[in-house]
Amino acid sequence: MDHDPLTPLFSPLTALKGVGPAVGALIGKAAGGERLIDLLFHLPESYVDRRQRPTIAAARPGQIVTLSVEVVRIEPPANDRQPWRVVVKDATGSAELVFFKFNRQRQMPVGARLLVSGKIDLFGGRRTISHPEHVVPADRSDLLPTIEPIWPLTGGLWPRQVASAMAQVLARLPSLPEWHDPALLLREKWPGFVEALRAVQAPAAMPTNASRTRLAYDELLADQVALALVRGRLRARPGHSLTGNGSLRARALHRFGYTLTRSQQQALAEIDADLASSRRMLRLLQGDVGSGKTLVATLAMLCAVEAGKQAALMAPTEVLAKQHHRTLSRLSPAPVALLTGGVKGRARAQLLRGLKDGSVPLVVGTHALFQESVEYHDLALAVIDEQHRFGVDQRLLLGSKGELTDVLVMTATPIPRTLLLTQWGEMDVSRLIEKPPGRQSVRTSLHSLGTLPELTDAVARKLDEGAQAYWICPLVAESEAVDLAAAEARFAVLRERFGDVVGLAHGRQDAAVRDATLAAFGRGDCRLLVATTVVEVGVDVPAATVMVIEHAERFGLAQLHQLRGRVGRGLASSFCLLLHEDWVNEAGKRRLTLLRDTDDGFVIADEDFRLRGGGDLLGKKQSGLPAFRLADPIEHEPLLHMANRDAAVLLGRDPKLASQRGRAIRVLLRLFEKAAAMRTLAAG
Ligand code: ADP
Ligand code: MG
Repeated sequence: MDHDPLTPLFSPLTALKGVGPAVGALIGKAAGGERLIDLLFHLPESYVDRRQRPTIAAARPGQIVTLSVEVVRIEPPANDRQPWRVVVKDATGSAELVFFKFNRQRQMPVGARLLVSGKIDLFGGRRTISHPEHVVPADRSDLLPTIEPIWPLTGGLWPRQVASAMAQVLARLPSLPEWHDPALLLREKWPGFVEALRAVQAPAAMPTNASRTRLAYDELLADQVALALVRGRLRARPGHSLTGNGSLRARALHRFGYTLTRSQQQALAEIDADLASSRRMLRLLQGDVGSGKTLVATLAMLCAVEAGKQAALMAPTEVLAKQHHRTLSRLSPAPVALLTGGVKGRARAQLLRGLKDGSVPLVVGTHALFQESVEYHDLALAVIDEQHRFGVDQRLLLGSKGELTDVLVMTATPIPRTLLLTQWGEMDVSRLIEKPPGRQSVRTSLHSLGTLPELTDAVARKLDEGAQAYWICPLVAESEAVDLAAAEARFAVLRERFGDVVGLAHGRQDAAVRDATLAAFGRGDCRLLVATTVVEVGVDVPAATVMVIEHAERFGLAQLHQLRGRVGRGLASSFCLLLHEDWVNEAGKRRLTLLRDTDDGFVIADEDFRLRGGGDLLGKKQSGLPAFRLADPIEHEPLLHMANRDAAVLLGRDPKLASQRGRAIRVLLRLFEKAAAMRTLAAG
């Protein structure tokens, strides 16, 4: 432990020769970090092969070539704006080297034989290399790089600076134990880790796929082992073993009046098994809006109450919390409390006492539920609604109200499989794949924004027939203020036409004003709700059957799907009108057409993930998700699944990573900075 051979890799780039603070910062900017390891994992986008040695006549314009030539003459520029021209020839023809800054007279006198490497172009019928990247004497081909990596750079940073720093880092690489199964390496014909890095970062020959693939697999395996370790620790903690007698549940189902769908039954069985087990539950309940997650969660919570314990449900907003509170209160024979920021004074004090002494068995609320001041007598189950925006670490906090608390996360965002394995690797998953019976699919149609007047007439007819409608305003810019202006303008126009049955709801409003508007829409007093995306996360108004979305091309697929899920909740047929610009690009059209043609949330999620290139979801810092550096979760999706199985087998055999391979895996975890997993191991 004292002497960790990897430590030098985490030192700053300025430790390298020729890398001062300025160059260090530039490399850091391009590589996403200023340590040796960041540079080491900064992969080239492509390579230039300098070994192409065609004759002048055979050189194809656009190609990077190395020509073996003799200098014929040098033509100085006629004026300042003209370049220097060096005419060269070989046995097949002649070419021109063009320099706007020329200081190489001594290097290339007339008659000199040279190797010249650069991109060849055709200008006015003449073969031309402007500013060749390499010019060396013909007998010094050893001075020419053979394969040159093209790294992503940043302004002011030169390839040779990266190459020089990279060479030094590679030279400092300690020898590392092999962490992969020898049989796998043999089967895939993968080189060792260091060898693969050299092949990719300082290649002597064009790198093969095997090297890149191996490196991607290293990263994916580190990720999967780390998640499995964290998950293993969370589970190893003893939890409650909860079994109910079914009495409350039976009464709730009786009140509900319908039978559970097959998906609901199965999800509930999975949850019951988790609850009954003495290990802790960490389960994700995935299902489209309206697929009946809340009902499943309610029944799970009642099981906790039957077992004499408490359960809490946390919603992301106050509106949603109140809505869940109504739903639960309707179903549950046991009393359900509501705790939000709005519950104050004596009522709050009384509620907190009830939670602490256990006399309040069920509570619904916002994040207020998990504040320090809230103590529970015996919280056995925490249900979290719509927390898909949280990362792993935040989710781990949710259990902090009790080490024993089982956790059920509900999400209406169908998460693509790839993301499940990476971002949700510590959770088990239940999916609700069918909708409750009697649900109509929403008829979705695409319209040019130019038809807005006709569309408004169509909405008017629907309103006359007694329908209620959402009108979602364009996502104009990143700026909320600008979006707001658009919503207010639309509200003014519609209000002018339809009068005070038109309401406006957006994120910048005073919460009380917004809640009042949403409540009016819920009662049916407000019939046309103009809104920004605040309605995305909740709002259950079964009577609303029309959804208009302006500038649909600016929304993400998953978001549109969520919005559409606001209608089609009742028995009447529903409509979703997607208004778009005429000039929507191909990708935009594909997304809108896909949405029109399917309402399967899982299909939409997988497609969304692909269309957005995954990197958008996985790679970007602002998403709060860890970025992959060597792997591309879409290109390498099969590898991800392989790593997932590999990690399970490995930890099944060697949970403490004590074997020889296990110890090598520890090095892998350190290399990819899986700190939480390392802590788990250290904690034994
Ligand atoms: P979600 O939480 O997944 O959005 P909900 O649990 O709110 O879905 O259910 C949506 C609607 O469907 C609710 O009105 C609910 O009462 C109804 N529902 C749920 N499950 C069933 C079922 N098995 N049969 C009939 N209706 C159901
Ligand atoms: Mg349990």
